Amino acid sequence: MFKNQFFASPGQVDGEPRRKGRVYAAIEVPELDDGLQPYEAEPVYLECVDTSWFNSFEASENGALWSKLFQAAPLSVLELTSYKLPLFPEGSKPGDIAWFEFGYEPASSSESDARIYTNLLSEGATVKISFHEPRPIGWAERGIIGEAAQALAKYNSSSSSQYSLKKRLARISTAGGVAFYDVGQGACQAAIDNELHIPQLYVDFGGGVLTNKKTFPDGFAGFCFTRDPMVILSHWDWDHWSSAQRWPEALNTPWLTPPVPLKPIQLTFAAELHERGSLHIWDAAWPGTITAGAVTIERCTGRTANDSGLAVTLRRRRNSPKNCLLPGDADYACIPSVVAGESFNALCMTHHGGRLHSPTYPKAKRGAASVLSAGPRNSYRHPLFDTVATHLEHGWSLPTGTALSGQRPCHVLVPWGGRPHILQGGCHGGMCATAVSAIAPANGKITKFARRRGDAM
Ligand SMILES: [Zn+2]
Ligand SMILES: [Zn+2]
Repeated sequence: MFKNQFFASPGQVDGEPRRKGRVYAAIEVPELDDGLQPYEAEPVYLECVDTSWFNSFEASENGALWSKLFQAAPLSVLELTSYKLPLFPEGSKPGDIAWFEFGYEPASSSESDARIYTNLLSEGATVKISFHEPRPIGWAERGIIGEAAQALAKYNSSSSSQYSLKKRLARISTAGGVAFYDVGQGACQAAIDNELHIPQLYVDFGGGVLTNKKTFPDGFAGFCFTRDPMVILSHWDWDHWSSAQRWPEALNTPWLTPPVPLKPIQLTFAAELHERGSLHIWDAAWPGTITAGAVTIERCTGRTANDSGLAVTLRRRRNSPKNCLLPGDADYACIPSVVAGESFNALCMTHHGGRLHSPTYPKAKRGAASVLSAGPRNSYRHPLFDTVATHLEHGWSLPTGTALSGQRPCHVLVPWGGRPHILQGGCHGGMCATAVSAIAPANGKITKFARRRGDAM
């Protein structure tokens, strides 16, 4: 089955090869309206593919499916640790993908100015950049990347998944509340039913990777798939889907996603889902908002990947006033229901408590709960003081964080209208860490074991 080396399980990877390389590197042009220099206070990561692989497709009729070709793409991530991100090409706008060519050589850590990772879960190796050269905006669309984009657009317009996914969403039981899983620096949430207390729908399926791999909890036994939960992906950043590479079973369930950014790693992951028939893209032909049963999904209205993805509101049941907003990493000003003044009982603070670029915040109902999903000691320093403080000013409570306890994983469950509980999760079989079970600490007040359907107990 489809498996790019970049996603091979860490057991199959023995350290980074020490070699020089030439890559085409892609990065999104961020919003600049907050007056800050882009990426100044944050690590810079670029999605790369070897130049030789990319160039081998130029002007050649290859005939093979794009999703098969990406299986062999030599992918990597280049982290600029002290090398300054070159200026974006003239005329670039937020949300555009900027491309550069980079050359690098192995270097000791004292001489290095960057790190290269050839696997999503590798520790990376120190390198020194030997040169960089910008490419004009739109450059990559002439090659294999553009071919993939065209194929995706064609595939999507012929797909009839909207109706069947809506039917599937309408059946989902959410009455047990919303679980926020401790996946380190990243996000993974689920709708929980009130009978078996297990995940019925995942909203994002991420976790800590690369520099932040160390924030992923040891001893996380796996995810519960007993009820065939589908996944809604808020946006394509790695920290929102990477757990599907740790537990590939997740690749076989339907994923409802925003359009795929034209960056090599995200395209390769999309190719993997596509090859398994699991990819369902919410493109411009879909409505801005869909409500099916207790699930409402909105298309965010911004320009960047964070701000133009899908925001999910879960309710206790269809038409219930009890609601929980899962914004992914979107700025609140880009979520139509927030802009329209809807108030919420529960909220996952957007973007892991990272930097926002608008003064819009969702309204909190009386007694509302807030949750934060970030990994301890992550490289972004999430959550940021200002972001948490501004939530408090807008009436939100101090958030309950995933990984709150040093005994990890430490998940959070917010029952409808109740206070957040912390719990460890797991089921009788010991195969998962995401069923809400009796091993929750006493304050969890959750005393019922999750069990498989049909289990006598
Ligand atoms: Zn993001
Ligand atoms: Zn994120």
